[in-house]
Amino acid sequence: TLSDRLSDTFKNLRGKGRLSEADIDATAREIRLALLEADVALPVVKQFVASVKERARGSEVSGALNPAQQVIKIVNEELVGILGGETRRLRFAKQPPTVIMLAGLQGAGKTTLAAKLALWLKGQGTSPMLVAADLQRPNAVKQLQVNGERAGVTVFAPEPGNGVGDPVAVARRAIEEAKRTLHDVVIVDTAGRLGIDAELMQQAADIRDAVQPDEVLFVVDAMIGQDAVNTAQAFLDGVGYDAVVLTKLDGDARGGAALSIASMTGKPVMFASNGEKLTDFDLFHPDRMASRILDMGDLLTLIEQAEKTFDADQAAKAAAKLQGQGGEFTLDDFLEQMQQVRKMGSLTKMLGMLPGMGQFREQLENFDEREIDRIQAIIQSMTPAERANPKMIDGSRRSRIAKGSGRAVSDVNQLVDRFFEARKMMQQMARGGAPAMPGMPGV
Ligand code: GDP
Ligand code: MG
Repeated sequence: TLSDRLSDTFKNLRGKGRLSEADIDATAREIRLALLEADVALPVVKQFVASVKERARGSEVSGALNPAQQVIKIVNEELVGILGGETRRLRFAKQPPTVIMLAGLQGAGKTTLAAKLALWLKGQGTSPMLVAADLQRPNAVKQLQVNGERAGVTVFAPEPGNGVGDPVAVARRAIEEAKRTLHDVVIVDTAGRLGIDAELMQQAADIRDAVQPDEVLFVVDAMIGQDAVNTAQAFLDGVGYDAVVLTKLDGDARGGAALSIASMTGKPVMFASNGEKLTDFDLFHPDRMASRILDMGDLLTLIEQAEKTFDADQAAKAAAKLQGQGGEFTLDDFLEQMQQVRKMGSLTKMLGMLPGMGQFREQLENFDEREIDRIQAIIQSMTPAERANPKMIDGSRRSRIAKGSGRAVSDVNQLVDRFFEARKMMQQMARGGAPAMPGMPGV
């Protein structure tokens, strides 16, 4: 996966203060590959990689994240930004009915989506009406009626003497009917062909002019990959639309189409359709799509939590101490760092899966949270002077501390030894650069 490859790329980076040009180039290659694997269109990949490189150049390597994580974070933020940031909401007309028109190729999933959207809107307390304005395919009207019935919403279909054969007339009449019968949302299903087709495009444009939709939604199959860009552009030129709906996200498409379309057209993706059932439908979540495109599962969540947990203040304090600016590293600091690790609680095991953390994996697997409780009890049984100057903890003090904490003298001995070891290790790390991961020593 991308994260594995990035973490390999950065193996040698620890200790450097800033991403080097060579590191950035190596990263760019990996991102480019990952995006192409996800079926993102090439021009979009190029543009995207260029902007990530630009941002990586200015970013410092420090704080809660290792370089690989830092780059993944930048990539993710750029992806989410292009995919629309916050989810875009449907605009409702001030004067009902709100008219939503669907456009897209045949088989994209418009008719299915019409019913899903109607059901969803009904759940939000509106009273939608579906309009069968696809008179191209023999079965299209029937299909919408069946789906509409399942969703429990009214379907306006052409009847003899009621605009049969003329989708523009059907759509226009449907709006009048909706006003008369107090349906506050009208969803107009339209015809599409297998490929981009001038005649069909004109028909869709005519329907648009007749019903003056509040929202035109371009419906596109996420599985079409590289073709998505051409199709999206053709519909943008031919009909125009306000937002995009991605369908068939239950398939194994990695979602490159979403990035390609959003990037090329600047239109937000609004809904996601992910199955054949009417309830397989949701608002589109740019963050979820970004992690799908990067194929990183929960990694981004972990990065976020690691960042939250990481207390920059505390780290700065510890770093200053290690560099001799805030006095020597004491048992109080040691305890504080232990508690920092505890804060990450259940995260610790998963942390081992983060890029760059492989070296700690074994320690993390053996890590026992109760161990921190024991350490805490022992340290808290010491006097402030002992904590500040652990060298003074001699034999008689050790047995007093053991009694006070309810532990054996050997436990106290072990802790003191571990402390001195940790201090030595941290001093070595401080000389080699910023501590990679405050809180780790002693685990
Ligand atoms: P239209 O030609 O644009 O109206 O497309 P349809 O709504 O008729 O859908 C074409 C086919 O795709 C049908 O067999 C649908 O059941 C199927 N379909 C639509 N949306 C989805 C989806 O989100 N997931 C899956 N797996 N199939 C879908
Ligand atoms: Mg259809």
